[in-house]
Amino acid sequence: MTLNQIELFGKRSIKSLVAPFLRGWTETRKSWRRGADTGQVQILAYHRIVADITQAEQNAIYGLVVSAETFARHLELLQKAYEILTIDDALAVLRGEHRLRRPAALITLDDGYRDVYDHAWPVLQRMGVPAVVYVPTALVGTTQLLDHDRLYWLALKAQERGLDLRGPLEEAGLSPERAAHWGEARDARQMANHLNYQSVAIRQPIIQSLETALGICHEDYPADYALMDWDMIREMAAGGITFGAHSDRHLILTLESEAAAEREIRWSKRVLEEQLNCPIRHFAYPNGHYNNAVRQMVERAGFASATTTERLIAKCGDDPLLLGRISLCEESTRGITGRYSPAVARLRLAA
Ligand SMILES: [Zn+2]
Repeated sequence: MTLNQIELFGKRSIKSLVAPFLRGWTETRKSWRRGADTGQVQILAYHRIVADITQAEQNAIYGLVVSAETFARHLELLQKAYEILTIDDALAVLRGEHRLRRPAALITLDDGYRDVYDHAWPVLQRMGVPAVVYVPTALVGTTQLLDHDRLYWLALKAQERGLDLRGPLEEAGLSPERAAHWGEARDARQMANHLNYQSVAIRQPIIQSLETALGICHEDYPADYALMDWDMIREMAAGGITFGAHSDRHLILTLESEAAAEREIRWSKRVLEEQLNCPIRHFAYPNGHYNNAVRQMVERAGFASATTTERLIAKCGDDPLLLGRISLCEESTRGITGRYSPAVARLRLAA
């Protein structure tokens, strides 16, 4: 067992053990709320919805993937307990203008992966569930991949080959201490997260240097890292899916200059508005990172809402430009056996 597997097993054991006890509590909590207007919206965040979860978890950061089957099970569970709203209705609930008899939920999908079109869109259509998809506009309709995926793949390949990345990281501009620390890291996910958490001026040379050191070119990355094209987005938008901006190049806005961050925010809104021929009013901060200056830029650009990745349930009176979300992946609702657990799912999702 790797360290990662031991960590996952420990987490699953705790979830499975507490789920049956907390279920009773959840039922009680539900009965308190029955018929009551909670003024809360549970905003759920997904990334990739995949056909083959085993393969996807081998190739991708596990926190980003969920199978189409599990996604549908989540939505079934949510439909029983919640009103699943459009984002505009969810914002009206948070403003206290829209009162509901049941708790409210909102489905969001980040990054605009192609498999959201292939596997999430049919489920959403079949079940009649509204959703918001946030896309990084510069990458849509191109063969470019997201930096966090490229870095994860590079870290994974380096580990498989037992390669020391200190040299390539130093060449890319990292200090010898940081290059030594991350070049030898044993957890590909942690390494990728750290190397991704850089300004674009540092992140791009890191990727180029690692690709050269590992002899990896564009064709070597998994095909399922691909993003949607504009025709797919237009089709989903015509079918009722709301699209929101997720910056232009998926830059971590708090690490960029104010001018660069402002450009990312405004340009992504403009490109989406031109492509979809409708106002774009919703934004998601890349990697969930924001600060007061970035929040103000989003407000000045004319967005009505923005979501973070802070694990919070949105409630009436919250700042609509700082809405927390609950992130979900396949692992979130696995029990001790490693398979989907209805008890754990009810614990994670039930109102
Ligand atoms: Zn993202």
